[in-house]
Amino acid sequence: MKEIILAKYGEIILKGGNRGKFENVLLNNIRNSLKNVAEFKMRLAQAAIYIDVFDESKKDIVVERLSKIFGIVSITRAAAAEKDIEDIKRVAVEYLKDDLTAGTKFKVEARRSDKGFPLKSPDICTEVGGYIDDCFPDITVDVHNPDKTVRVEVRDFGAYIYCEENKIQGQGGMPIGTGSKALLLLSGGIDSPVAGHMMSKRGVEIEAVNFFSYPYTSERAKEKVIELASILARYTSKVNLYIVPFTEIQLQIRDKCPEEHLTLVMRRFMMRIAERIARANKSVALVTGESAGQVASQTLAALDVTNAVVDMPVLQPLIGMDKNEIIERSIAIGAYETSILPYEDCCTVFTPKHPTTNPARAKIEKSEGQLDVEALIEDALAGVEKIEVLPGV
Ligand code: ATP
Ligand code: MG
Repeated sequence: MKEIILAKYGEIILKGGNRGKFENVLLNNIRNSLKNVAEFKMRLAQAAIYIDVFDESKKDIVVERLSKIFGIVSITRAAAAEKDIEDIKRVAVEYLKDDLTAGTKFKVEARRSDKGFPLKSPDICTEVGGYIDDCFPDITVDVHNPDKTVRVEVRDFGAYIYCEENKIQGQGGMPIGTGSKALLLLSGGIDSPVAGHMMSKRGVEIEAVNFFSYPYTSERAKEKVIELASILARYTSKVNLYIVPFTEIQLQIRDKCPEEHLTLVMRRFMMRIAERIARANKSVALVTGESAGQVASQTLAALDVTNAVVDMPVLQPLIGMDKNEIIERSIAIGAYETSILPYEDCCTVFTPKHPTTNPARAKIEKSEGQLDVEALIEDALAGVEKIEVLPGV
């Protein structure tokens, strides 16, 4: 019996005139993701993609890859049958025998998009349901409250059978490449990788920037950030990571600015440098992992001061989330174990004892007046290292 993989997509079918374009982006993303994994053929029909993977041993990894592609809402394996009701019945019984165990309540749902097929959908249900019922004496039909729903889809190019309960959930969202590009400020913490994942989920292509204060932060802290970028790349195929040398800026801030302003002045440098890198690489927004009220630098007044220095949207997808919700997502995307490794982040090294929580722009600007902001930014930009980070396994 032949088995295919069936991936269903969701939101892009609502996109009216853009639907075809967005479907092509999704198909391309799938091709890219499976390129070095398996040989396959794809067919598209009504918000579903039928993927014929030639090598049986590659199917698990194909399912795993599909489960990380934005735009796909569910994935399942399905048996292929001839477009012939007798063959559909035979394949259904053979394929689903392990699902339809004694005591199971089941129903059949059929969909016929090939209008040339002689039976209408309700007739397919009756035929297939009756046959299954006859073949397995210990199971019963229950259309209102089934344990298992047997789905039969008759398409122009074949008939397919699967059990609804065997579907696994996909990422949902929009395919990457249907939104614009944004630059993520990626620290080594829990929050920013989650923020990056959330924006990617909306179809936005993500690049990342990290501010690195060697030797105050170690090589291992840098490796940790690269590792986090590679976890994000599992969902996005690749992440360009820009590493910005930040030590000189931090030392000057520490020496010349009032201690309670250290964090905010530093954050403003990060934002300015990030904006320059974004513009140079065609990103149209910045993404950060801030959550309102989480720490002193994330009060609304602090965010006002931080974001005032940039002239592009600053996306903060975690802004209304609690830490435990963020942690749940971090675990779900596979980043948590890496995020909690103990290596110091550049912010933690230079944290003031009593940071200001209700800053005014004018005061912070005055503190900054002690520094040659433009020269410091240019020096930092001259030392940027670009790393192309590929998916981690
Ligand atoms: P995270 O868990 O993402 O580190 P956080 O709760 O520790 O966030 P902050 O340290 O205040 O918060 O940083 C706020 C945001 O600023 C981060 O989510 C991240 O987007 C960005 N950021 C902080 N430090 C760095 C850094 N060293 N490099 C790049 N971005 C950074
Ligand atoms: Mg942090």
